[in-house]
Amino acid sequence: MNGIMMQTFQWDLPADGTLWQTLAKKARTLSLLGVTAAWLPPAYKGSAGGMDVGYGVYDLYDLGEFDQKGSVRTKYGTKAEYLKAVRRMNLAGIQTLGDVVLNHRLGADGTETAPVTPVNPEYRPEKLGDKRPGTVYTRFTFPGRKGKYSNFVWNASCFTAVDYNQDDPDHHLFLLGDSQWAEDVDDEKGNYDYLMGADVNVLSPAVSAELLRWGLWYLKTTGLGGFRLDAVKHISASFLRDFLHEMRAKTGREVYAVGEYWSADTEKLMRYLDTTGYAMNLFDAPLHFHFHAASRSGGSYDMRHLLEGTLLERAPSQAVTFVDNHDTQPGQSLESWVDGWFKASAYCAILLRAQGYPCVFWGDLYGIPEKGIGAVSELPRLMQIRLFQAYGEEQDYFDDPQTIGFTRSGDPAIPGSGLACLITDGEGGEKRMLVGKRFASQRFICAIGGQKPVRIDSEGYGVFRVSGGKCSVYTPAPDLKAVLYRLGTQAKRLFRLQLG
Ligand code: CA
Repeated sequence: MNGIMMQTFQWDLPADGTLWQTLAKKARTLSLLGVTAAWLPPAYKGSAGGMDVGYGVYDLYDLGEFDQKGSVRTKYGTKAEYLKAVRRMNLAGIQTLGDVVLNHRLGADGTETAPVTPVNPEYRPEKLGDKRPGTVYTRFTFPGRKGKYSNFVWNASCFTAVDYNQDDPDHHLFLLGDSQWAEDVDDEKGNYDYLMGADVNVLSPAVSAELLRWGLWYLKTTGLGGFRLDAVKHISASFLRDFLHEMRAKTGREVYAVGEYWSADTEKLMRYLDTTGYAMNLFDAPLHFHFHAASRSGGSYDMRHLLEGTLLERAPSQAVTFVDNHDTQPGQSLESWVDGWFKASAYCAILLRAQGYPCVFWGDLYGIPEKGIGAVSELPRLMQIRLFQAYGEEQDYFDDPQTIGFTRSGDPAIPGSGLACLITDGEGGEKRMLVGKRFASQRFICAIGGQKPVRIDSEGYGVFRVSGGKCSVYTPAPDLKAVLYRLGTQAKRLFRLQLG
C-alpha cells in the first residue's frame, strides 16, 4: 500500500501539554486516513521548558520527566504520555519517527572560563583575533535529573563554538579551545557547522560516544521506529552516517531516517546523500520552493517545470516530499508559505504520483488557527485517493505552461484504483489523457474540483476538465467490488487496533 508520513505538529500549537494525549486519541483516525508514519516533535526538554517547541534542546534524556527549566512536562506533555502516544501509534500500524536535534544545546546551567577565538560570523574560516580567555555558557550539569540514565556532564570541551562570551559582547561567534569546524558540513558562510547556541562537537570521541549511548537509550525507552534528523547540514555528515549505522547494528532494527537538509540546491542534497552512503532519506526542499514559487507567481509560473531538477526527479527513492512545515509556516525563520489557492494542487503532486514519500503537514490538515489559517479542505479526500486509487503506471502530460496533467492506470489487484489529475495556475480548460484501455466505456467521476463525470472512450482516453487556478482529480466510478475492498481494508485497520 502507498505510505503517507505526517508531521504531527505545527509551530504555534498552544503550549498546554496536551499534544501527546491528542495524538494517542487520534492514532485510529490518522490510520484510517492513510497515515503510515508519524513525525513527532522533539520530545525532550528545551531551554524554554514547557513552552519550548523542542529545537532549543537542553537535555536529551528529559522526555518530560524531571523538574528542569521550570517544568516537568514539555510543551507536549509528560514522558508517560509520550510513551503512550508512541505505543498507540505503533499499534495503529503507524511507524513513529522521533525528531532528533544533535547539533546544538541551549540553556546551560552555568558559565565557565575557557579559551576562545573570535571568528567572523559571516565567514567562519576567518579568525578575528588570537586565542584568549572568555566566559561562556557551556556547563550542562542537569541538576534536576541528578545523573539518572547518564552522568555525562557537558563542558566547553564538548562544544566547537558559542555565539556569546560574557567578557566580549562585541564579537558574535567564538571557537572554543582548540576546536575546529567539522569539514563535512554545508559550505555556506565558508563553513556552516555553527547554527545556534552551543554547537555540539560531534567529532569529540567523548561526545560521540555519549550521543550513541543516548540514541540507543532513546530507541529502547520509546519503541520509536526511526528518526527525523534536524539541521543535518550543520552536522558532520560522516558522524551522522556512523550514528545511524550504530543504531541499526546495535538494535537489529530498520531505524528509518529522514534528514532535514534545508537547501533549494538539489546538487547539495545529492552530494550529501553520496557522502552519507544513502543512510537516510532527505526532505525535498527544492520541490517545496517550486510549490512556493508557483503559488506566488500570479499565474505566470511555467507549470511544465514544476518537478524539474528536484530531489524527486534526481533521487526519487530518497525523496520525502512535502508542501509546508513548521519552519515555512507564517512567522517562522524560514517562512516560505505556499499560498492557499495552490495547496491542493501541490498535495496532488506529492500524494497521487508514483514517486516520492509524501509528508502531510499538521497545519494543512487541521489549519493554523493562531494565524487565522484554515485547513486544506481537499486534503483528507486526497489522502484517501492516495490510499485507494493512486496506483499503476503513470502517464504525464506536462505539455502546457499553464495546465499540466497525469494519469495512473490503476492496479488490477486494488479494485477501483486509477485516476486522472489536472493542475493549473491559469484559466484552466481541458486535456485529453489516457487512463487505459481496460477503462473503455467506463465513467470517471470528479472527486476533487467539481467537474462533471467523464466517459472513457474505446481507446482508453478521457477528456478531463479543470477550473481556473485549481486542480481536479477523477477516479473510476466505484462498483460494488471497489466499495467492499475499501470497507474491508479499513475494517482490518480497525481490527488490528482493537487487538492492541
Ligand atoms: Ca554543528
